[in-house]
Amino acid sequence: MSALRFDVIVIGSGPAGSAAATVAARAGLRVALLDKSAFPRDKLCGGAVSGRGERYLREIFDQSVTPGLFRSLTRVRLSHEGEGFGLIKDAPALHMTMRRSFDALLHAHAAKAGATVFAPVRVTRIEPGAPQIELDDGRVLQAPLLIGADGCNSATARALYGRPFDPADVAFALEVEPPRQRGKFGAVQVDLAAADWGYGWIFPKNDGITIGVGGLHRKNPDMKARMLAYLDRHVPADTARVALKGCKGAFLPAGVYRKVPGAGQVLLAGDAAGLVDPVTGEGIAWAMHSGRLAADACVAALQSGAPKSALRRYGRELAYLQHEIDRARMIQKMMFFGPGARTLVRNLVRKRAIQYTFLNILSGARDYQDIGAKTLINASLTYGKGWFQGAAGTAGRD
Ligand SMILES: Cc1cc2nc3c(=O)[nH]c(=O)nc-3n(C[C@H](O)[C@H](O)[C@H](O)COP(=O)(O)OP(=O)(O)OC[C@H]3O[C@@H](n4cnc5c(N)ncnc54)[C@H](O)[C@@H]3O)c2cc1C
Repeated sequence: MSALRFDVIVIGSGPAGSAAATVAARAGLRVALLDKSAFPRDKLCGGAVSGRGERYLREIFDQSVTPGLFRSLTRVRLSHEGEGFGLIKDAPALHMTMRRSFDALLHAHAAKAGATVFAPVRVTRIEPGAPQIELDDGRVLQAPLLIGADGCNSATARALYGRPFDPADVAFALEVEPPRQRGKFGAVQVDLAAADWGYGWIFPKNDGITIGVGGLHRKNPDMKARMLAYLDRHVPADTARVALKGCKGAFLPAGVYRKVPGAGQVLLAGDAAGLVDPVTGEGIAWAMHSGRLAADACVAALQSGAPKSALRRYGRELAYLQHEIDRARMIQKMMFFGPGARTLVRNLVRKRAIQYTFLNILSGARDYQDIGAKTLINASLTYGKGWFQGAAGTAGRD
């Protein structure tokens, strides 16, 4: 059987892959978009889309946060180990969605833009050198460029590096989605001490709620116990009982991005490149954005007749985002490093100004760059030089 030829092959049709395929197809490239699932499909996720995500959704997919698909919330309750700090009624909006519908919409956009869809399909072999992939039905696809947007457990990253990420370095989260609780939960809830190096959340949606607890995997070997404690504190007993039955877990590559996001003619985007905020766990917005940047780099590289230049172009454009992750890692260390950190966070989160700083980051109204200097100076004064040097380590991996 002769190989099917494309300009770009995109593996994975989550927010990163659908964005990459949409942008590349719209630019006139012949795009193959593959996913192991048929759409709609479920994806374990809080489904909180920030203002940042809203912007990328509009720019890339020409789609707004419509009430049918999203529930936009400005009411937030922050707490620390169950101790509440009052209801904030005017937080910058977070848009809550179910990934099943959201991802199906993005996937349909990519197909409409002209990408050739292969889904559901099983990739049996990825040859990264001169990119070629084989499917279990014997078909072979070839292209000068390959974008791996296949999530945290990326087969593309495995083909490049042997394994996507070390589980000890990434975050792990448990989630449940008890249905039809709208009346009980009218506000976003975040408990900043529900997990070590992580937090707990309640995200109300149009047709249910998502309750989760997540944090750095190696710091939370007992995540199920954390989840139980969180449910006990924040959820009525009847809801908690229903919730626990459907508890599921997944890894998030939070804060362990690839400094060089790919190799040769293979580019990694979204979770496959480790582009998740280590403090908030936000990954949807950066997945869409990095997918777009990867596609732009492929378009420019092919137009210039130098496919090998795509990775360098992409890496350059991704630098700001990687710096944001470095800054987030410093703030994360400030929040969780050392014996005094827990008390400090509890005291700080009582302050309205700090609450709004956190909410501005969570909702995408501000970047870490906007808050970094002042916060870090205050932190270094609080913790001293030793802490500051510890916090200043960066996250990227070669
Ligand atoms: C519990 C949890 C809660 C989260 N909550 C939030 C939140 O509220 N807000 C937020 O912004 N982020 C959240 N995140 C992070 C967010 O889910 C991810 O960052 C985001 O989904 C990354 O998008 P992606 O396109 O890179 O990967 P994915 O969304 O994982 O998509 C990857 C796609 O690749 C496909 N695929 C995988 N392997 C293969 C293969 N071998 N062959 C073909 N296809 C393949 C999959 O089927 C999937 O469709 C959460 C994550 C977790 C685990």
